[in-house]
Amino acid sequence: MAKKNVVVVGAGFAGVYATKKLAKHFKKNPDVEITLIDRHSYFTYMTELHEVATERVEPEHIQYDLQRLFSRRKNVRLVTDTVKSIDKDKQTVVTENGSYQYDQLLISLGGESNDFGTPGVKEHGFELWSFEQAMSLRAHLAAIIRRGAAELDPAKRKAMLTFTVCGSGFTGSELIGELIEYRDVLARDNKLDPSEITLQLVEAAPTIINMLNRTQAGKAEKYMKKHGVDILTNSMITEVFEDHVTLKGKDPIPTYTLIWTAGVRANSVVKNFNMETNPRGGRLVANEFMQAKDAKNVFLAGDSMSYQEPGQPRPVPQIVQGAEETAATAVQGIIKNIDNTDTEIKPFKGAYQASVDSIGSKYAVAQVLDNWNVSGFIAVLLKHAINWLYYVQIFSGYYLFQYFMHEFFRTRNRRNVFRGWTSRMGNVLWSVPLRFFYGAMWLWDCWTKVQGSESWFTDKLRLPFSWIQVAATSGASQAATKATSGASEAAGAATKATKGVFSLSYMYGKDPLMVFEKSPHWFESVTKFFVPNLQTALFMQKFMTCVEIIIALCIFFGLFSWLANAITIGLVAVFCLSGMFYWVNLWMVFAALALMNGSGRTFGLDYWVVPWMQKHLGHWWYGNVSSHYDAVKTR
Ligand SMILES: Cc1cc2nc3c(=O)[nH]c(=O)nc-3n(C[C@H](O)[C@H](O)[C@H](O)COP(=O)(O)OP(=O)(O)OC[C@H]3O[C@@H](n4cnc5c(N)ncnc54)[C@H](O)[C@@H]3O)c2cc1C
Repeated sequence: MAKKNVVVVGAGFAGVYATKKLAKHFKKNPDVEITLIDRHSYFTYMTELHEVATERVEPEHIQYDLQRLFSRRKNVRLVTDTVKSIDKDKQTVVTENGSYQYDQLLISLGGESNDFGTPGVKEHGFELWSFEQAMSLRAHLAAIIRRGAAELDPAKRKAMLTFTVCGSGFTGSELIGELIEYRDVLARDNKLDPSEITLQLVEAAPTIINMLNRTQAGKAEKYMKKHGVDILTNSMITEVFEDHVTLKGKDPIPTYTLIWTAGVRANSVVKNFNMETNPRGGRLVANEFMQAKDAKNVFLAGDSMSYQEPGQPRPVPQIVQGAEETAATAVQGIIKNIDNTDTEIKPFKGAYQASVDSIGSKYAVAQVLDNWNVSGFIAVLLKHAINWLYYVQIFSGYYLFQYFMHEFFRTRNRRNVFRGWTSRMGNVLWSVPLRFFYGAMWLWDCWTKVQGSESWFTDKLRLPFSWIQVAATSGASQAATKATSGASEAAGAATKATKGVFSLSYMYGKDPLMVFEKSPHWFESVTKFFVPNLQTALFMQKFMTCVEIIIALCIFFGLFSWLANAITIGLVAVFCLSGMFYWVNLWMVFAALALMNGSGRTFGLDYWVVPWMQKHLGHWWYGNVSSHYDAVKTR
């Protein structure tokens, strides 16, 4: 059978989602090859563009390398190239550097900013619909504030210190939210009073955030006003100049920074495809199965396509859920065409569970299932949860981990939902003495178990499990039994005489209290399963001592320190449940937690080992990442 080529153009939310699903479905079919073409070697995580533009997130955190995403999918071929046109008759995608024949095609080329022909936007304004635009805005914001801070002419200075966002949809309102937080950072870095920096949100309609209900939009508006944003409604920008913008029927606004977010249209390259587009937004028109008109093997998904469900006032919204859901329908159609089955494809039906509008890192408003209004902390967490779900859907544990890192654990300027409390951008140097102490303490504990009369490396049972004590004594001589029972009676009497005292610090002259005098029943059953007899118990006590030595050395020398400390927390829990640990020892849990902060990276082996592992294990698992993928799978 001749090979079937599935070509996906555009590796954004829709393209990556679809390619993952197709690659999984066809993984055992060597006759199907999937080619994913994008102008970048990475997937741009668009929903964080405003965070990059305002320096909350570093640029590399929204560039998800395609090789990393598809390294385990050998049936996916990656191509970095710019699509120019599509020849439906020859079934070919024409790119800047070549052409690609397809049997089934998915077009998911996304959207771009729509300035509705407003003069000056392209020349003097800024847009936010691609990685490059976010970077250019980021560079401009930092530079213009620097210039403004040095400017002595008051009018010019004010214009330089004014940021004007046009449009109050998701992009505009989310950007102004980030600017609220970024204003403090810029002011601090340039020795300005934050009140000198003016933030404006300009909207042509009488109200803002019109994609949400009025209650939620009202909350967002209140939050913006409280944080010093000037909101100008009924204000249509008519022209943009380098140092000001003009408004219909109103005074001009002096500003060097106009950020245009007022509209989205389809990627303009789709004009070259000779396919039907809708007049508003130039989006490719799809039928209910996400097929292009008159081409049953050309499918459409995401922001570059338009489909209006019967009874709905508007086409599928240009949001991530819209991209995923249209991609899911398109994938079913492609599979059906290739597998040549009679499976009935369900027509597209949009189900948008939640709309969340985040106003900076700490506040958001959301509408869930059209019924519930959620705002504040919970709404921000909801937004994060939606992102986590996407990583699950595209099976990317790596980028899920990275997301946690850059959104929670490595954030600067307190810009995360936990107000920076979860960020580890502190100095781990101060935890190094604790690491040496804690490691040494474990080593000392091991030393007492390795040598001397109390050694755990003899055939004398040290573990306190009652069922094994009985087995050990019954198998031994009667005399020994008597001696042991005599000894334990004496010990029992002693225990009674000196009753343990609860305290979290050791009190001189008192006996500390055990966390559990005796193992809880459930834990005893589990332990009995793993340690059923004397031989296993003797092996386990030696084995556990060896494990403890390794862990102690790891902590002391700072090797795999996160893992080693996490294991000690587990060990403390087991010791407590086994009836071998005192309350006073619980400090160890908190010491271990504190040392999970990357303490081995300073004066420790993790300084070398972790980067080495990241490099070599990363290479082994993901192959070579590259700035450019050309047709050959680099593995
Ligand atoms: C700042 C911002 C914030 C947003 N926030 C949210 C939000 O909170 N929630 C939400 O649901 N949506 C949000 N959106 C919208 C969301 O990002 C889009 O709806 C989504 O990205 C659409 O996915 P897509 O796959 O259709 O297009 P995209 O994700 O844009 O992907 C298109 C891909 O095509 C590639 N491409 C384009 N042209 C070519 C070419 N000629 N040749 C080769 N490759 C090409 C691009 O490089 C890109 O990888 C936001 C958008 C922005 C800009």
